[in-house]
Amino acid sequence: MIPVAKPWLGEEEIQAVRRPLASGWVTQGPEVLAFEQEFAAFVDARQACAVANCTVALHLALKAVGVKPGDRVITVSHSYIATANAVRYCGAIPVFVDIQPATFNINPKRVESVLTPQTKAILSVHQMGMPCDLRALLDLAQRHGLPLIEDAACAIGSEIRWMDKWERIGKPHGDIACFSFHPRKLLTTGDGGMITTSNSEWDRKFRLWRQHSMDVPDTVRHAARKVIFESYPDLGFNYRMTDIQAAVGREQLKRVPEIVACRRQQVQRYRDLLSGIPGLVLPEEPRWGSSNWQSFCIRLPGGLDQRGVMQAMADAGVATRRGIMCAHREPAYQQEAWSCGSGPEGCGCPDGRCQQLTESERAQDQCILLPLFHHLTKAEQEQVSGALHAACCT
Ligand SMILES: *Cc1c(COP(=O)(O)O)cnc(C)c1O
Repeated sequence: MIPVAKPWLGEEEIQAVRRPLASGWVTQGPEVLAFEQEFAAFVDARQACAVANCTVALHLALKAVGVKPGDRVITVSHSYIATANAVRYCGAIPVFVDIQPATFNINPKRVESVLTPQTKAILSVHQMGMPCDLRALLDLAQRHGLPLIEDAACAIGSEIRWMDKWERIGKPHGDIACFSFHPRKLLTTGDGGMITTSNSEWDRKFRLWRQHSMDVPDTVRHAARKVIFESYPDLGFNYRMTDIQAAVGREQLKRVPEIVACRRQQVQRYRDLLSGIPGLVLPEEPRWGSSNWQSFCIRLPGGLDQRGVMQAMADAGVATRRGIMCAHREPAYQQEAWSCGSGPEGCGCPDGRCQQLTESERAQDQCILLPLFHHLTKAEQEQVSGALHAACCT
């Protein structure tokens, strides 16, 4: 079976984890610090703070910009559910805005109409590595005095055209960007996350909060000759990354340019192979965006049953996944507060259908993700294409 995704881990990563294991310092320490500096240099950020995963990165980002219970945060339903969950961890209400069908990203034109005095932040997603329209979102955010947080979970190595230069996602162009190192993303540490910001005060808070808000870190006490007592000025969390993970991450980071270049070629090959399937819609990059193609999401010809196509492909030895989920259709969000921006009475739509989120729902129902990973061969891509042709055209 050709899998949908597969991380690229090699001898370098195996050698790298020997360092923390041999030293005996295995939790957050010198490897995390080095990984943060190398990551910040890679995305051209002033500073980067490593954490346990992207979900907690989003939680800390929302907390840093001051999101509180009852506040509203503009985001998308069409994302991995962790995006909306992070808003709920703050007790705030996610306000779901519909997506643009070609890029699967938030439609900036729909944002202004759902703003209220309770809106405290915009949390936009670079879905599947495709840069969202940061220019339009930042203009909106600045006009309304709102912070802009980027869910860049999938977007390491993606680029955006910014003042006539190509820049990597994560500088950040908004106020804070959050990355994931789950194995489905381009760079993996098993689990892991990173937060970048130009705001040193927020960065200081991230470093405090991720380690129980301990004001004198264990590394400092360990190195000190004098006895030091730490204190805990704020409610903190255990959101640390370990040095074992960071050692892997440092090697993975070196591979990212090659991984992105390879994926861009593989996507071009898919475009050539799949051009003959009538009605099939392939994802489009905006002029100003360059995707790392974390996932290749295709829209099936009208009327075709998603599950049927996926089963036919599985029978032909090709694993696929359905399109990105919509949080508002999950049972969890029948219990959790959310809004589509309709007035105080809500939209009155039945569960699992919302007239404000039709493009999001269509994308979930009509799209599938094709296999895409570093070692996917030309022959395997041809097998995928053959299976899809057979599933769509017979
Ligand atoms: C993967 C993902 C997350 C969650 O990342 P974790 O590191 O697994 O917590 C959040 N948002 C998006 C868009 C994702 O794709």
